[in-house]
Amino acid sequence: MTALVPAPCDLVVADLGGTTLRVGRIRAGTSEVRDVRRVPTDGLGRYGTRDPQELQDRVMEQLTREIAADVARPGQPPARAVAVSFAGPMTSDGVVLAGPTLWGGPAARLPVADVLAGQLGLPVVVANDVTAAAWRYASAESEPFCLITVSSGIGNKVFRHGEIVCDERGYGGEIGHWLVDPAEDAAPCECGGRGHLGAIASGRGALFAVRAAAAADTGAFARSALAGPSGGVPDAITNEAFAAAARAGDTFAREALRRSLRPLASAVSLLFTAIGVRRYLFVGGFALALGDTFLTLLGDELVRIGCFGLDEYATRAMLALGEDDDDHCLIGIGQLAAARLGAPRALKAPA
Ligand SMILES: [Zn+2]
Repeated sequence: MTALVPAPCDLVVADLGGTTLRVGRIRAGTSEVRDVRRVPTDGLGRYGTRDPQELQDRVMEQLTREIAADVARPGQPPARAVAVSFAGPMTSDGVVLAGPTLWGGPAARLPVADVLAGQLGLPVVVANDVTAAAWRYASAESEPFCLITVSSGIGNKVFRHGEIVCDERGYGGEIGHWLVDPAEDAAPCECGGRGHLGAIASGRGALFAVRAAAAADTGAFARSALAGPSGGVPDAITNEAFAAAARAGDTFAREALRRSLRPLASAVSLLFTAIGVRRYLFVGGFALALGDTFLTLLGDELVRIGCFGLDEYATRAMLALGEDDDDHCLIGIGQLAAARLGAPRALKAPA
């Protein structure tokens, strides 16, 4: 009989983000991450703007070095495979196409899975970070569901039929770069464009908007809960103070937030009406800092826009928050790798 479920084994898991590289261990088939080490990523965040190819080389050298150190660490059970969550779009066979938060501008296509497998002599599973985060919820959520990260930008992935819905060449799951404000002076996006959803409804975009609202209506700003922490200076408003004021029910902060979330509600309504996804999980620093306030205001806007065929209760019931921790990608890439290791022909993960 063919064994479809892999025997328990240790995976070395890594989460390569723009500021931090995390490396830890996880027993395949479980969600318990242990011995996690965190080091600053040797890329754009640490060295600033340099030649993207030089930064890509540094990032890849560091990733290989840190994983190799974990694989060889004394006292650990032998690692049977390596699984890496990578902050960038990639093809279905583990080739990273871009690394805007890792090395900035254009550099060579990077076959991460092949390079690591060659260096480490172990099976390697690599996936995009939002894909990895979605896999964390694959066993607990009914399909289909959509994971949306809302932090300094916005990303999404739809999970359906045991897989992420994504093109082989990495297209899909990028609603953060959907144009929602065509004005020439619209808020700048981290991709270099303007007026994209991720520039408007992200933590960065909402902060940009509330500062502008404070400068435009100094009377309302002076009466709001934001005036004290910012010393009455619009540009001194922080995301922390903004989130705290919105959670506490401050009208000025909540209305600014509501306006920022309006295009995100449109995106959810579009996804629902286009392909019938009825479950949306939100993670990312901004959404989780706002907590229930985020769900309430987004739900208000979604009800106002409408989701064809759904009543208010069913519309609000689509929205939920994910776990409030930093482990989405590590746990999720471990789950994805366990699924792949049960199917030996597909060791390289979809983007
Ligand atoms: Zn963009």
